[in-house]
Amino acid sequence: MKKLIVITGASSGFGAAMAKIFNANDYPLLLLGRRTEKIEALKLSGEVMIRHTDVTDQEEFSAAIHEAEKKYGPTDLLINNAGLMLLGNVWKQSSKEWQTMLDTNVMGVLNGMQIVLPEMKENHHGTIINISSIAGFKAFQNHAAYVASKYGVHGLSETVRQEVSGDNVRVMLVAPGAAETELLTHVTDDSALSEYEAWKQSMGGITLDPVHVAETVRFMYEMPQEVNIREVDIAATLQDN
Ligand code: NDP
Repeated sequence: MKKLIVITGASSGFGAAMAKIFNANDYPLLLLGRRTEKIEALKLSGEVMIRHTDVTDQEEFSAAIHEAEKKYGPTDLLINNAGLMLLGNVWKQSSKEWQTMLDTNVMGVLNGMQIVLPEMKENHHGTIINISSIAGFKAFQNHAAYVASKYGVHGLSETVRQEVSGDNVRVMLVAPGAAETELLTHVTDDSALSEYEAWKQSMGGITLDPVHVAETVRFMYEMPQEVNIREVDIAATLQDN
């Protein structure tokens, strides 16, 4: 029998693509996000629970997971995908934007891991896949706080991987390159946004289709439990950095 998969940020982009692929493969799903109407609009069928969750609110996050676990059994895969990117130079970007990125991209991931790890360790089974970014191991101009948050995700993922490997629990990391999602829609700095768009155009305008990231995540998860694909760095072929 297939086990429960929890996906954060399932309302768009990579999260929605992963929700569709795991649903098509008959996994029980808990799909989380703040815009639940967008998750409903995916029109998935079968064992799907959709709950409002802001990943920075550990109580709400935890309540949703425990409710789904009562219905479907223990979480076997948590995909910490929720995140956002706000571009700008450090000397002019609002510290509120830094805080939102650090709270969501780092605290959100830590929150999710803390909720599921005790039971995964006890069961000697489970997988966590954290969605980081190429900006988690390489710097990009205008991205200082985002880069800081994603370097954080790389560091904490490897730390926890080492800590729970002896319990047969896997921690994996996926670092995508530029992809076609809603990620850029939250950027408030117009010049940073124009530079990003120009960079994409300079690579032929082609970026990664979220479906390919979702298929990669499914492949990683479906490897036998004794195999841990620790880290995948995936980008469009035309991406030059
Ligand atoms: P989208 O903007 O399309 O999706 C982001 C998702 O995160 C949404 O579903 C949003 O849901 C959710 N989210 C944001 N903040 C919160 C929060 N506080 N609580 C719960 N959910 C939240 O972007 P992507 O699909 O591109 O982003 C997914 C991940 O991929 C992010 O971690 C991003 O950093 C990473 N990434 C993206 C790349 C790209 O080029 N697109 C490249 C590399 C990494 P809602 O607003 O409904 O809550």
